[in-house]
Amino acid sequence: MPDQVINEIREALVLARSQFEYLSDLGIETQTTEFHDGSKNHPCIGTYSALQETLDTIRTDLGDCQRCGLAASRTKLVFGVGNPNARLVLVGEAPGREEDLKGEPFVGEAGQLLDRILLAMGMQREDVYLCNVLKCRPPDNRDPNPDEVATCEPFLVRQLAVIRPQVIVGLGRFAVHSLLKTKTPISRLRGEWQRYQGIPLMPTYHPAYLLRNPEAKRDVWEDMKEVLRMLNAEGGG
Ligand code: SF4
Repeated sequence: MPDQVINEIREALVLARSQFEYLSDLGIETQTTEFHDGSKNHPCIGTYSALQETLDTIRTDLGDCQRCGLAASRTKLVFGVGNPNARLVLVGEAPGREEDLKGEPFVGEAGQLLDRILLAMGMQREDVYLCNVLKCRPPDNRDPNPDEVATCEPFLVRQLAVIRPQVIVGLGRFAVHSLLKTKTPISRLRGEWQRYQGIPLMPTYHPAYLLRNPEAKRDVWEDMKEVLRMLNAEGGG
């Protein structure tokens, strides 16, 4: 089959799948197909499975990403780590110095504090998935620019769509504002359930903030207890 035809089929399948998911999000049931063996399936899903996105395909797509200016100053791109089937995903802002050197999120002092928080919840970092809105470190840890967020955030959206966790924790003002498209101060948002693409999202403080403001650890623990309650309510707790 000529390459052009294969590409056209591929694009049609991707379009059909995104339309199906969009309708599902709206709660609209789409037509199913009955196969010879009596099983039912959505017309495009079975065919699409060969093309289905995974975290690996997203990472491959990023490659040696040069899509925004942060590529010039990074040491390593920090994609994300953890369980690809995690029930809980924690999203931070961007890699810091140590993360940039190691290529892994939350490995510095703040990361160690996050590990202790997870341990208190009865989890280890292998149980959850950790990532950031930005995959590359902004110089001197400055706030990412809007164009950098606009360029990089689609990859986070795809990661969350693949993992489809039961709960998301937004760590810190920047991540929460990016995910929820709001400017409400994190001090007002934290502790209150929000929704991201239908998934319960708990905003809380970033562990780096806790290093500077240890009195806020109590608030974060209250938020994490809520997260545990929600995970238990969602099943498999
Ligand atoms: S921050 Fe994101 S978009 Fe910019 S270079 Fe890094 S991976 Fe690419």
